[in-house]
Amino acid sequence: MNTLPSAITLCEVGLRDGLQNEKTILPTREKIELLRGLIDAGFKVIEVGSFMHPKAVPQMADTDEIYKAVGQVPGVELRALIPNLRGVQRAVDCGCKKVKLNVSASRQHNLKNLNMTPEESVAGFAQCVQAAGEHGIAISGSISMPFGSPWDGRIPLADVESIIEAYLNVGITEISLSDTSGMAVPNQVYQMCEHVAGKYPQVSWWLHFHNTRGLAIANIMAAMEAGMTQFDTSFGGLGGCPFVPNAAGNISTEDVLNMCEESGIETGVDCAKIMELSKRVRDLLNHDLDSYVLRAGRAKDLILSHQ
Ligand code: ZN
Repeated sequence: MNTLPSAITLCEVGLRDGLQNEKTILPTREKIELLRGLIDAGFKVIEVGSFMHPKAVPQMADTDEIYKAVGQVPGVELRALIPNLRGVQRAVDCGCKKVKLNVSASRQHNLKNLNMTPEESVAGFAQCVQAAGEHGIAISGSISMPFGSPWDGRIPLADVESIIEAYLNVGITEISLSDTSGMAVPNQVYQMCEHVAGKYPQVSWWLHFHNTRGLAIANIMAAMEAGMTQFDTSFGGLGGCPFVPNAAGNISTEDVLNMCEESGIETGVDCAKIMELSKRVRDLLNHDLDSYVLRAGRAKDLILSHQ
């Protein structure tokens, strides 16, 4: 085994990726409480919500209100997903300082939904990058389904590279590889991560794995072995993907925290606090969550309870 990193950075995406897939729309005050809890637990990067059209994603309609209520938190990056230039304007208006764009690596998916190639979509983001820059807002990009999509199967590495280069062309150097379809496997993840990290050293990479086929934590391990150190996770394993049949949520935050604690990998996030937050989310949503550690407890809690 290659050397694992001694520390990694996690971004909690439950407030966005998780809650946007729930039928129950949480009251804004509950979301603010959860956000404050995440900050208190030690998260330095949190995906707060999105500036999609409220009719399209009603669960995220109050993202602006959450930013206004919480304001700037020193040392904590509060990011939001945006679809277009209107999203940058909403970020400006509510004080959001970090936005993220998304494109699908699936050519079929992108052509069907937007009548554009992924590269054309990314080229169209240039005006968002310019507007964000003018207002002091940092901007990143994500590529969903770079490992495989239900429409195209495995995505050729050359296609992923071409989308990465389209992002670099518009000036975006922070890129997330998002396995929203849950089709990635560890050896593929290792190969792609090692390759892109070597070829594009100027990029700050994020990895985002859904646990649809139970491989998310193995994929994180493979990505870490390839040198990746930034990962999205979701409290309680909340989430899904509206485009992908039976998509599961992101890998659960507490499962990753437990693995890191037991492996000696620093995250700066308090697992016990996150478990309490996830239980709160479970109560608010009134259904079970997809989290091993929430069901079984942490490995170290088990040992303490038998002393
Ligand atoms: Zn996701």
